[in-house]
Amino acid sequence: MSGIKRYLHSRLIIFMFFASALSVLVIAIYTGIMMKSTADFLKYNIEGRMIALSRLAAEVATPDELDELVAPEDMGKPIFGDIKMRLVKFADETGLTYAYFLRDIGDGNMQFIVDNDLTEGTVNLSTPPLSAEISPKRALEGTASTAGLGNYSVGYDNLLSAFAPVFGSDGRVTVIAGVDIIDERTVLIRSRVQTLVMLMSATLLIVMASGFCGFSLYKKKAMQSEAASAAKGDFLSNMSHEMRTPMNAIIGMTSIGKSAPSVERKDYAFKKIGDASTHLLGVINDILDMSKIEANKLELSFSEFDFEKTLQKSVDVINFRVEEKLQNLTVYIDKKIPHSLIGDEQRLSQVITNLLSNAVKFTRERGSIRLDANLEEENEGLCTILVKVTDSGIGISSEQQARLFKSFEQAENNTSRKFGGTGLGLAISKRIVEMMGGSIWIESELGMGATFAFTIQARRGVSKRRKTMLNPGINWKNIRALVVDDSEEIREQFADISRGLGLTCDVARNGDDAIARVAQKGPYDVYFVDWKMPGMNGIELSSRIKETGSDKSVVIMISSVEWSVIEDEAKSAGVDKFLPKPLFPSSIADCVNECLGVGSQIDADREEHKDNALSLDGFNMLLAEDVEVNREIVLAMLEPTMLSIDCAENGAEAVKLFSEAPDLYDMIFMDVQMPEMDGYEATRRIRELEASSGRHVPIVAMTANVFREDVERCLASGMNDHIGKPLDLGDLLSKLRKYLLRSN
Ligand code: ADP
Repeated sequence: MSGIKRYLHSRLIIFMFFASALSVLVIAIYTGIMMKSTADFLKYNIEGRMIALSRLAAEVATPDELDELVAPEDMGKPIFGDIKMRLVKFADETGLTYAYFLRDIGDGNMQFIVDNDLTEGTVNLSTPPLSAEISPKRALEGTASTAGLGNYSVGYDNLLSAFAPVFGSDGRVTVIAGVDIIDERTVLIRSRVQTLVMLMSATLLIVMASGFCGFSLYKKKAMQSEAASAAKGDFLSNMSHEMRTPMNAIIGMTSIGKSAPSVERKDYAFKKIGDASTHLLGVINDILDMSKIEANKLELSFSEFDFEKTLQKSVDVINFRVEEKLQNLTVYIDKKIPHSLIGDEQRLSQVITNLLSNAVKFTRERGSIRLDANLEEENEGLCTILVKVTDSGIGISSEQQARLFKSFEQAENNTSRKFGGTGLGLAISKRIVEMMGGSIWIESELGMGATFAFTIQARRGVSKRRKTMLNPGINWKNIRALVVDDSEEIREQFADISRGLGLTCDVARNGDDAIARVAQKGPYDVYFVDWKMPGMNGIELSSRIKETGSDKSVVIMISSVEWSVIEDEAKSAGVDKFLPKPLFPSSIADCVNECLGVGSQIDADREEHKDNALSLDGFNMLLAEDVEVNREIVLAMLEPTMLSIDCAENGAEAVKLFSEAPDLYDMIFMDVQMPEMDGYEATRRIRELEASSGRHVPIVAMTANVFREDVERCLASGMNDHIGKPLDLGDLLSKLRKYLLRSN
């Protein structure tokens, strides 16, 4: 149930509860009032009044007068009319509905004598015992009898009757006077009972509805919590599986590697250990991220970054798997997106990498994956960027889609068994994009592939670097390029990127088409040739181009397979350069720049990173690290650099070594958690020692505490930088370069 529904539901229950309570209260008050007023009414209005009226009626005629009226013919006597008129008057004056005299003729029967009814044709004095069945029936239905004198009761229909004896001169009672009124009490009680019944029904309804809502909510909650605990149970067993599997590979491959007789076998084991460790680190990072999210501690750290490069980094992470599965990955970047943005690059790249790696994971071999990045809008420098990752994979049914972004949930429980995964990636991604002012959603049908899309907001960066990516020293308009690829998508993308770069570009569908174009328009300066094409393949076409074209023509082979797989063949066919798919504008520009000998604009950093043969001979470093194996790792990793490294086993020892030779060390790598004295304290002491000399040795934290606050704490204690464990050789070298080479 969605949040808003749940909210309304719980509001409704509270409302119902109060409504029920209120209705019960109203009913109670109403019943109380009614009972009291009815009792009063009975006591003062009816009982007394009716008895008094029946007594008064008994005085309307004397027993002697009444004795004159016995047989029907007596109705002709003047006294009959006289008494009738007296009854009419009496009834009018006293507000009676009906007034009459009855004669007891024994055996419980009554003879009707006279009433106040003036309607023509009314039968009055009747021959006994017929009279009993005629009009005085109303009175007879009551308790009127000589025995029940003075009684009253609910009479016929709505009439309430009361009777009083008429005493003869002998003291006997043969005649009784009757009075009827419309039974106000019954009417009143009836209407009150009706109201009461209505109130009670409404209350019952409300109580039932609240009960039902409460029960259904309770049931739903129970089911939800059952589902949540089942999901957590699945999550735990899943997680155990996810962590033990790579651990198993690491331990197993370590023992295989140890006893392996050949170097190849050892290398194989190392590669497997490396893969499993990387995977395990990913799982650990996911769990830590999720814990941060649950504790509301996830924070972004902003910096200016190159958007295209970020995409490229994410693609690089997963590209080897795309190659393994022979999938076709294409990347489209809207030219309108500023190349430089301000945001949390690492977190953005985490989201994109997660979506891409899911797409690879859930798409069959030879399937296709496409990444689209578009500028949705820009408002005073605030850009909304839409990123879509579309795959032709297994897809997700709509019922399962709703669960995907919740932590611990996967589309199907057996997904993890089949594909692996923690089920945390999308929940983390959702949180990240929401923190970046965006949202994430999915469009998919089971078996029909999936599109995961998200938006983020980021400020336009100020850096203007790489505005024109092609070297400005050349008039690119005069350079003609031909793209040969069987995929229309790639041709279009290429044409689009070329236009963006200011390059004149033709496209050809296949080898024959390309040859025909060359014959028609003459040789091109640059050819981009796809490796795998039906009919004439890229290698064949390249050698044909090289045979017929001018010497200056450059042939660049584009392919998603590893360059090493086709390198020999391609080089012998005359291919000059290799451009890996997916294509990025900057990689095309760099490649063209390089091929035409005008110097690449490839980022200096990237060039530097390739250069692992860094020589640091003559530099001295102090390494403070308490765990022996970690010291060994650093020593082994940096051995090729010939850097001289002294080791300290804790902070105190580091301070001691530093104080003994303050000018010796060019740099310090400082673990944070160490016995005796931790890295923060050691750094503070070293900075104190330096205070007099004015020297400032770079201290880089080398720690497994990698959260933002950890980094900030390191910097606050006086360190210059931070490097996370597990160590990455590239990172290590770049820090050394940064602090040793650049400062020199
Ligand atoms: P993980 O992939 O680690 O299990 P995620 O949160 O990234 O965790 O994904 C959760 C679930 O979403 C996956 O287990 C899978 O069932 C489903 N899913 C994610 N991406 C796709 C996709 N591209 N195609 C089909 N299913 C997907």
